[in-house]
This record gives sequence, structure tokens and C-alpha cells, in this order.
Amino acid sequence: MPLVTGGEVTYAALDYAASAPALQRVWDDVAAYAPYYGSVHRGAGYLSQLSTELFEQSRATVADFLGCREGDQVVFTRSTTDSLNLLAAVLPRGTRVFVFETEHHASLLPWRDAEVTYLSAPRTPAEAVASLERALEESEQGPRLVCVTGASNVTGELWPVRELTETAHRHGARIVLDAAQLAPHHPVSLAELGVDWVAFSGHKLYAPFGSGVLAGRSDWLVDAEPYLAGGGASRKVSRREDGGVDVEWHTSAARHEAGSPNVIGAYSIASACRALAEAGFDSLVEREQALVARVRAGLAEVPQVRVLSLFGDDAPRVGVISFVVEGWNSSHFAAALSAEYGIGVRDGLFCAHPLVRTLLGGTPDEPGECGAPEAEPGERSLNAIRVSFGAGTPDEHVERFVAAVR
Ligand code: PMP
Repeated sequence: MPLVTGGEVTYAALDYAASAPALQRVWDDVAAYAPYYGSVHRGAGYLSQLSTELFEQSRATVADFLGCREGDQVVFTRSTTDSLNLLAAVLPRGTRVFVFETEHHASLLPWRDAEVTYLSAPRTPAEAVASLERALEESEQGPRLVCVTGASNVTGELWPVRELTETAHRHGARIVLDAAQLAPHHPVSLAELGVDWVAFSGHKLYAPFGSGVLAGRSDWLVDAEPYLAGGGASRKVSRREDGGVDVEWHTSAARHEAGSPNVIGAYSIASACRALAEAGFDSLVEREQALVARVRAGLAEVPQVRVLSLFGDDAPRVGVISFVVEGWNSSHFAAALSAEYGIGVRDGLFCAHPLVRTLLGGTPDEPGECGAPEAEPGERSLNAIRVSFGAGTPDEHVERFVAAVR
């Protein structure tokens, strides 16, 4: 398989679920702005003024992209992980969190200081809704938060976000959507879905690394102490007569954005949001679904391949597909795809250990770790292979992948 055509290396990066290549449009926007960036909210100079304006415009663009409602805040963070940890840090005292054990660790783990109800892996979307309904019914009144993924980073399957939201709200609970894998593939609107918060990462949404978003209701954000204490978050700081310090914190998104903001990160996310909105999700979804069908048909031709699925073969999914190959060590398989065919996929447990172990026929509490030694041929796999793609994936990359697996 030629990796070099006309002098150009054509490595097939099929690991969009980890990080998607930034769109050319985003690189162009960032390159045009790069010579002019300055510190945000911190300077009288022209570059600082320009950067402050672009930073706040970027916030407005993201709010638009996410269909924010009146009063919603958009906080720029480092990533989805950072966004969910921020929300975990502002939970009202005594909040109980409900989370499926199938979640990515970024959604599963930040709630350490809260009371957490872990829900077992559902085998249908309806079972997920019923299981949440039961857990909420049995729980005591008080602040409650449901955290759920929009699309699985393991199976690509879509979760019943509307139904889960309706269930949560009927019981007076709130819901945060981990849209890390959903937002790059489907429109995500706070107003339409009704979720209370959305979290996503720029580097999966075709922007470069370093920035993410938490958007949604402002009350819990404003009622809590800042996530980080420091400049930018504080409006007024004064020494008290008793020797201490009084601080008045901002009540805007700046409250949780202490320190010099990542203006290039915010600007690149906004650029990606604009590019996706202009391209329109209809055509993106149509093309991506054609690639999903092609990959699944290609994998189905190989009897040794087993595709991992929680909700069954017909469940709607984004361009994220995990599988194991009988008789193959998944890590060796992924390494061979890279070394011999120039295809980059991911192997392992995908930061969703309980889910992947369950899908591989084990139990969610089975010991094991990322990068653990693989099973010998004939034994049950302990690791899987994940191929993922999206906007801008060339057909040739997908064809190369299918041919290589075959
Ligand atoms: N949630 C899901 C569903 C993910 O797939 C990921 C990244 N793999 C994250 C959260 C965490 O994203 P980040 O690493 O950008 O914080």
C-alpha cells in the first residue's frame, strides 16, 4: 500500500474520537490572527483590545452554535474533562449524581466529592431511561444531577438524551450532557434538547488542542466559589482591617476562568463552530453515515471480527466503531495497521474500562488496566481496536482500512 503519493505522505488518521484533525479553515483563521494576539481583559493596547473582543465574540459564536437559552453561560475550559470537573466543583452541598458505569472516565470520575449512584450498563436505550427513572424515584429529594454521554466513545452509539432529560426534569433533577463525541457529528442545542449543561472539547471538534467548553445554566456556577481563584475571576480585592482579604468575584463566566485566558483556543473553537454551522450538519451526517455503513460492511466480511455494541447492531451511531479480531492481539493488530498500512487507530480500553470490559464479555469490576498485556490467541480479548472518522475523512482512508483488515 503506497504511503507516499507524488511525494506526499498520506497517513490515514482514523482516530477522530481521540483527536480530530483541525479543519483547514480553522488553521487559516488561527494563522491570520496569530500575529496579533494579546492578553485578554488585561491591557489598554490595541492587541489586547482586539483579543478581548475576539475572545468575547468567540463566546457568542459558541453560544449560538449550542443554542444557548437566555441566561445560559459559556465558560471556556481546557477540555471536556476540565468542564466536567468544573461542574463537579460547583455542585450545591448534598448533591447526588447519577451516572451510568458505561461512561468515559471524564464523566464517571469527577464526582468523587458527591454522593454518586452508579447505574449498570443498560442493553437498550429504553432500559437506560427505565433505570434512571427507578434510581431517581428511589432517591431522596434534594439537588440531583444526571451525567450522560451523547454518543459513546467506544461504540459510537447515540444515547436517548431527550428521554433521559425529560426523566431527569420530571423528578426535579438536572442533567449535563457529555457531548465530546456527539458535538462533532450532530447539532447539539441546549434549547432543543433541554439539557442543563453541555461539555465538549475543541480538539475533537476539528479545532486544535487546549480548549473546551462548559455551557448552560448559570445559577450553580454563580452560587459557587470560583473553580480557580486568581486574577480575572475577581472583581474587587481589598485588605481587611483584621489582616485578611475580602474578594468580590465576578458573576459572569469570568468567575471560573481565572488566569490569562486561552484566546487562541477559544478563537479556534469558535472558528470550528462557524465552519460546521456553515457546512451544515445534514451533509456531514449523510456522508459520515455512508462511511459508517462502508466500514461496518467491510468488517462484516471478515468472520473473525466482532464489532462491540451495547444497544445492538441497528442502533444509530456516529463514526466510532470498536471491534476485536479473533486470534489477534488488539495492540499488535493496531500496531500492524500503522506500520504496514499507514493507518492510525486506537487500541486499549478507551478510558471507559467498565464498559469495554463488559462488552468484551467480562465484568465491569474485572481487574485490568490500559495497555495491559493482551490475551493469547484463542483467549478472550482484554483490549479492543477503535476506528473513528468524521468531517474531511477521505474515502481512500476508509477503503484502505477495510482492505487492511481483510
Ligand atoms: N467524554 C468522552 C465521551 C470522550 O470521548 C472524551 C475523550 N476521549 C472525553 C470525555 C474527554 O475529553 P478530553 O480528553 O478532551 O477532556
